[in-house]
Amino acid sequence: MTAILPGATIGVLGSGQLGRMFAIAARRLGYRVRTFSPDYDTPTGQVADVEVTAPYDDLEAVAAFARKVKVITFEFENVPAAAAEVCSQYCPVRPAHSVLHTTQQRLREKKFLAAHGFPVAPFHHVRSAEDLREAVARLGLPAVLKTTDFGYDGKGQFRLTSFDQIDAAWQGIGGRESVLEAWVDFECELSVVAARSLDGSFAWFGPVENVHTRGILDTSVAPARIGERTARQAVDVARGIMEKLGVVGVVCTELFLARDGRLLVNELAPRPHNSGHFSFDACLTSQFEQQLRAVCGLPLGSTEQFRPAAMANLLGDLWQQGEPDWAGACALPQVKLHLYGKLTPRPGRKMGHVTALAATPDEALSLALEARRRLSISQPSPSALPPPAWEAPAR
Ligand code: AMP
Repeated sequence: MTAILPGATIGVLGSGQLGRMFAIAARRLGYRVRTFSPDYDTPTGQVADVEVTAPYDDLEAVAAFARKVKVITFEFENVPAAAAEVCSQYCPVRPAHSVLHTTQQRLREKKFLAAHGFPVAPFHHVRSAEDLREAVARLGLPAVLKTTDFGYDGKGQFRLTSFDQIDAAWQGIGGRESVLEAWVDFECELSVVAARSLDGSFAWFGPVENVHTRGILDTSVAPARIGERTARQAVDVARGIMEKLGVVGVVCTELFLARDGRLLVNELAPRPHNSGHFSFDACLTSQFEQQLRAVCGLPLGSTEQFRPAAMANLLGDLWQQGEPDWAGACALPQVKLHLYGKLTPRPGRKMGHVTALAATPDEALSLALEARRRLSISQPSPSALPPPAWEAPAR
């Protein structure tokens, strides 16, 4: 199959920070980018050549978008099936709709993994409070109840530690179809972000070591501070999953390293991932360029990492005391600051990240945390400052 070469226009469904960094990588290689989402002035749209604003279920708008691009990829996987299907009538959609179908729904994904012998924590399908009671009796406690439709960043989840919580848990997730999963006593969380190309070649980053706070990724360290054998096993699991899925594109496989040494797959994301952001600054080819190469049918690039790296997310909470001290963080020369162009900093909202490079993973992590600490020393809020000359005064 012929490659889609620089100069061509790539379509991106979704318009968040993943699309923004993809668009930066694509434009650097001379591609053009169109993004489609229901939102306006988005992180991706600010960087793309064209931003299309329409609901995903406006299939005429989706078709018009698809007609103008050579290939479509995703930065947001919860696109309705009908939209992905319409796209595939006009151009290749990579990863394919079948991959999205499997990874869009937690129960389907877990069944797929279990059916193909990939290690997952024990789980049960739950459709009612009665099911939940039975599932708790079978799996024991602690356990975590998760809605089957993917929430993200820990949304739509309830951790159960006692039988008395069954009704509260069922109500807590809104009485929606869900999966009860045994709680994993883990040593650490890992991810393998990897790309698979049209000819089946495979290239990976990591494994990366991740810490989540309140269900949201907080920090990533690459390479993970784990033994070589575990690292190899994690990559083998990720490769096996991507081959079984027949993916063309990038997939993040998130895993638990249990205290007993077992690796268990937590979930899959069929796109670049927050835990792969370090690759933008620390690797010869970033996860975003790798996605571009894979979906365009180009050879994958080297994922060689220059130095150990760590990433710390910047959530909207950082703005609570005023404007973060950007200059303070930039004063650390081994730290790279990334901001996503989001206009409203809400608590828990991912606004940006910092990546630090250092001689060891520990040092990189300390440096990234120091950068974030410096950011939290607030500056006067922009609203307290006079408006810039180009800004019309509020009426
Ligand atoms: P998820 O959205 O499923 O990735 O869950 C968000 C975070 O919650 C994970 O990254 C873990 O930190 C934690 N978590 C989720 N499921 C489990 C589990 N079965 N055992 C232990 N921790 C979990």
